[in-house]
This record gives sequence, C-alpha cells and structure tokens, in this order.
Amino acid sequence: MIKLNENFLKLTSSYLFAEIAKRVAAFQKDNPQKEIIRLGIGDVTRPLSKACVEAFRKAVDEMGEPGGFRGYGPDQGYAFLREQIAKNDFLPRGAEVGVDEIFVSDGAKCDTANIQELFAQDITVAVPDPVYPVYVDTNVMAGRTGSAADGRYGGLVYLEGTPENGFIPGPPDCHVDLIYLCFPNNPTGAAATKDQLKAWVDYARWEKALILFDAAYEAFISDPSIPRSIYEIDGAREVAVEFRSFSKTAGFTGTRCAFTVVPSSCMVYDSNGKAHSLKDLWNRRHATKFNGVSYPVQRAAEAVYLGDGPAQIRETVNYYMTNAKLIKEKMAALGYTCTGGVNAPYVWIECKSDSWKFFDTLLQNAGVVCTPGAGFGKCGEGFIRISAFNSRENVEKALERIGAVC
Ligand code: PLP
Repeated sequence: MIKLNENFLKLTSSYLFAEIAKRVAAFQKDNPQKEIIRLGIGDVTRPLSKACVEAFRKAVDEMGEPGGFRGYGPDQGYAFLREQIAKNDFLPRGAEVGVDEIFVSDGAKCDTANIQELFAQDITVAVPDPVYPVYVDTNVMAGRTGSAADGRYGGLVYLEGTPENGFIPGPPDCHVDLIYLCFPNNPTGAAATKDQLKAWVDYARWEKALILFDAAYEAFISDPSIPRSIYEIDGAREVAVEFRSFSKTAGFTGTRCAFTVVPSSCMVYDSNGKAHSLKDLWNRRHATKFNGVSYPVQRAAEAVYLGDGPAQIRETVNYYMTNAKLIKEKMAALGYTCTGGVNAPYVWIECKSDSWKFFDTLLQNAGVVCTPGAGFGKCGEGFIRISAFNSRENVEKALERIGAVC
C-alpha cells in the first residue's frame, strides 16, 4: 500500500489563487455576459521587452546550428548571465556577491520552497504574517508544523505585520533558526529600511539563524534609501540567502528564470555544532535535482542587462508603478487606508470588513478581482491586495467601477 505524507492533510484550504480562480469561474458561469477585470493574481501583463525577445530568438537560432547547439548547461547557470547579475544587480549597490555564489533557476517560488529541505526537521521557523503563502505551505508539507487552528499552524513563529509596525515586523523575543523575509513585501507592498534589515541581520548573527530574503520585487523600489539587496547590510553575507527573479522585473513569469544567492560565508550546523558551507550543500542539491534553465532563456535574461535592455525593462516597471499610483490615489480618495504602491506593485487596502466578503463584493458588483488579505495569513484579515499588473485602460475601468460600488 502506498502511504501518504500526511503532512499534506494539514494544509488548511486550497492554495489561495486556486480558491480565487474557483470563485471567479463560478461567477463567470452565472454571469457569462459580465466582463471581469483581474487585479488579483500577481501575474504580469506586458510583453517581454524587444531586447529580451531578440536575444531569445537569436539563441534559439543558435541551437539549430551545428556550431551553436548546446546540451545540458553548467549546474549553476551560464557564466555570461551570472557575471551580468553580479556586475549590475549587486556591485553598484556596494553589495559583495561573487559570480560563483549565484545559482540560476527556473523560479523564486521553487527556490524558496526547495531550500528548506537542507535544514533539520526540528528547527524553529519564523514567517511573516501576512506573506506570500509558499513559505508556510512548504514547511507544512515538510512536516515542520503542527496542525492548523484558527488560521495558524502550531510550531511556527508568526511575525505579525500590522498597521502599527508599518507591516514590517522586527525580530521576535524568542529564538528561531530560520527566518523568511520578503521585501518589498507581497502582499503589503511595505519595504524595509536599512536599519530595519540591520536589526534582522544582527538578530540572525546572534542566534546563529539563517534569513531567507525574498527580493522578487526589488526592481519596483523607487526610494533610493531603501536597500534592494540584503547584502547592502553589513554582516548579511554570513546569515542570509537572497532570492531574485526575472518574473516581475522583466515579465518572465511565463518564460521562467530566477536566481538565488548563497554566499560562501553562510554556514549551517550539524548536530555536533560543526559548521558546513550552505553554498556547497545548495550546489549539491541543485546539481542533483535540477537540470538548468534553457540556454535561450538565459540569453533572454542576460539581455535585461545589455544595450537597450535596462531602459526597456525600466519603462515597463514605470508603467506598472503608474498604475499603482492611480490605484492608491483612488482608494485613498474613497476613504480607504492604503500601504504599498510606492516601492512595490501592490496596494494593500484596509477594507473595513471581512476580506473574502469584500473580495466577493468587488467581484459580484464591480466585476473586479482583487486578492483577499486573509489568504496571506491571519493578519491579512480585514485587508485586500490590489495588483498594478494590468493595462492602464483596465486599471482605470476597474477603479471607476470600484468607485461606483464603494
Ligand atoms: N516570491 C514572491 C514574494 C512572489 O510574490 C512570487 C510570485 O508572485 C514569487 C516569489 C515567484 O517568483 P517566480 O515567478 O520566480 O517563481
């Protein structure tokens, strides 16, 4: 008899976006004539930049030529991409990241989900609330939590993001071993300052803990004083892994390319207290379980840094951020308190009611899909997230309809 990993039975409800899709499909079935505007799931809508498409196409052509064909690529990703990443994403910010510390992958989702298999079963895990649900769910699947009760899993330390702390929780009073941080945050759009991240780095160093820093939205930071990488903070190289993605930065959600930085100074400890290189362990795992991102996709990602690429990418990011500004202004004018939308493509709105109820109201009465905050954690109750990833026309139309309903 094939037996189940019963940790999967602990998972509370279906994955957030599956539940949204179910409700939207039911509404569409009952109202086939109604046009729905989706400002819910955080998927991008603008096409790939010309620079990326050209590089992509050229690399596909190369693959069809005897002299240009490539089979399996290097385990960590092609050096041409990793060199551009180190040179452009980290060096100008004073963040020291070596080309050999970068691991190219097919997504920050997989990387943030997979890395926890390197850690012992009995570690204490801290997760922000609200946050991207993948961190919690994958630790549940791995058996690091108890059962769920009242929207929370036993055994996890929740770092509460509230209006009082600006949705940027500080280190807890207790010891934890593994800390997930996500800045700019999905869903709140809050972005941590250098001092706020420094408090986390100091805590992790003191506790010999590890920070998993998800910077999937760093490209949307507009405030020059906000750090884009945790490695801008002194001491972070010893205690932090950083996840980045081309998904939101360059519209690669369907193309798939991301990378993880594991500094050579990051250590993980065995039961005798002996230190082991996390980078070597992640390298071992990556090489064993992952066979690389395709050559054309890595060339397309490289184009983000070359020639017209940076300006084209910036134009798209600015387009979304203008949407974010419109959303924030309109919702504020309607009397809602909003966070985010300045250094992130998400506006986090206090909806003054149950968040799934508000979701249903906007869907039923305005034909607009948002994301209920409760899907991101208990502290998300009473909030919704509106995403700036859509056309200007759709955002304006959606805001007009919301204005008529609210
Ligand atoms: N991390 C965060 C915080 C996200 O919001 C998302 C996607 O929405 C991801 C990671 C997924 O990134 P990728 O497309 O690279 O898997």
